[in-house]
Amino acid sequence: MKRAIGTQGLYIVNTAPWRNFRPEIDKTKCSNCGVCLAYCPVGSIEKHEGEIVINYGHCKGCGICRTECPRKAMDWKEEK
Ligand code: SF4
Ligand code: SF4
Repeated sequence: MKRAIGTQGLYIVNTAPWRNFRPEIDKTKCSNCGVCLAYCPVGSIEKHEGEIVINYGHCKGCGICRTECPRKAMDWKEEK
């Protein structure tokens, strides 16, 4: 049986076109705690120089980050 996961992990699957909604971080609420980073199933949330950022090249819009954020800092925008 063919597997979708290869040696490069889920990054070999381009999941961005699946997205109908996108998370956007409200920097006035975000504490950069990293909870969303830990939960993102495709590794689309990264920390650069202490700041949390979303890599939209892979984000599939599943909403887990939004659900798990303890500060409700993820806005949810319809994808255009
Ligand atoms: S879980 Fe929420 S508060 Fe924590 S880094 Fe992510 S967006 Fe920011
Ligand atoms: S919506 Fe899903 S895929 Fe996109 S950043 Fe949040 S947890 Fe990751």
